[in-house]
Amino acid sequence: MISRRQLLQLLPAGAAALTATTAMGKPDAGVLRARLREARSRPVLDRKPLTTPIIIERIDMLRRDGQYFVRATCTEGVSGWALCNPQRMPSAFAILPRRVAPFLIGKDARNLDTLVDGVFLHKSNYKWQGLAFWITVARTELAILDLIGQRSGLPVHALLGGKVRDSVGVYYANGDREHSAEWVVDRLKASVAESGARAVKFKLGARMRTTAKSTARDFELVPMVRKAFGDDMTIYADANGSYDVTTAVRVGRLMQEHDYGFFEEPVPFDYLEETREVADALSIPIAGGEQESSQWRFEWMIANRAVQIAQPDLIYFGGLLRSKRVAAMASEAGIDVVPHISPQGLGALYMTHFACTIPNTTDFQEYKGDPDDVPYEIAGTGERFRAVDGRLTVPDAPGFGVRFDPDYLRRLELVTA
Ligand SMILES: [Mg+2]
Repeated sequence: MISRRQLLQLLPAGAAALTATTAMGKPDAGVLRARLREARSRPVLDRKPLTTPIIIERIDMLRRDGQYFVRATCTEGVSGWALCNPQRMPSAFAILPRRVAPFLIGKDARNLDTLVDGVFLHKSNYKWQGLAFWITVARTELAILDLIGQRSGLPVHALLGGKVRDSVGVYYANGDREHSAEWVVDRLKASVAESGARAVKFKLGARMRTTAKSTARDFELVPMVRKAFGDDMTIYADANGSYDVTTAVRVGRLMQEHDYGFFEEPVPFDYLEETREVADALSIPIAGGEQESSQWRFEWMIANRAVQIAQPDLIYFGGLLRSKRVAAMASEAGIDVVPHISPQGLGALYMTHFACTIPNTTDFQEYKGDPDDVPYEIAGTGERFRAVDGRLTVPDAPGFGVRFDPDYLRRLELVTA
């Protein structure tokens, strides 16, 4: 098996220039940095069709039955909505009315690119950088994007530069670490039968650690899943930062033998140099970035080839615009983006609007079904947003293209903090 470093040395002249390989055979990250920085400075929101100001008058957080919503309303009385992840927002919601909304009130929503940067600097909000801060920004951004869409009559994918595909394929992800290898295979088979997915992902390790039992299970699972699904299935595995470099390389070699598509978070997520060491030792693409909240560190990971699949979480990272900046950097470096997304809080819907607008992605996006216990429909269809025959089709109605039940929304209570 050829190593990544050997592969870089064999690339033709054009590709070698792109990767800026030095005489030592080590990619020279510095050459790429300026290009990546330029790529992530490009505006994402297409302002051209937005000919008049859309002044944000209110940002409200509302809830009922453990479900949280963000509503953005402009001075003309038009509102946009975003559903939140009920596993995250109950612990973080106070940040939204205290630190995020006050900055946005009175601003023109058409300046969303600069607003997501401005809110980061506003009253030293950068000190709050991390999941709890950025999920409140992200959900607010989703509500504002929906508002802009409702106000302009355009779908969000059009506001994000336009779709390059109408639908995305999905991989079905199984998150189990408790049951036997056989149990995981059975569950994956059931999920594939239900969703029509042509790709799957399962968990390795013991989440940020290993045990003797988890490692034995990993070495059993990798060949077993390939045998169960045959050569035509695309298979990924996710270690959630469980391994040290040595074990990650051993497991990665086994995945290579069985033709796996990528190896996600082999070592702890913030061990950036170690992630690169694993990538250098293997030919299987290394995927990572779901815990990342820094644009600068994404730039480092891409420039230094620590990951070959960049996985910003569309919510943890602060929204679709910031994630599109990662996609722009990745494109500049010739690598793909496969965003991380939790299913709760209409994750699949928001992901599909994003993934339909980026050229540099694979045909398999993360999917775990439609778990939200909230009444909504894809506008005008009566249908919920689900994979059909292994694909999710992006709605073309204004905003995100879904309509929450008005009776349900009327009974939400306003959250103050
Ligand atoms: Mg993961």
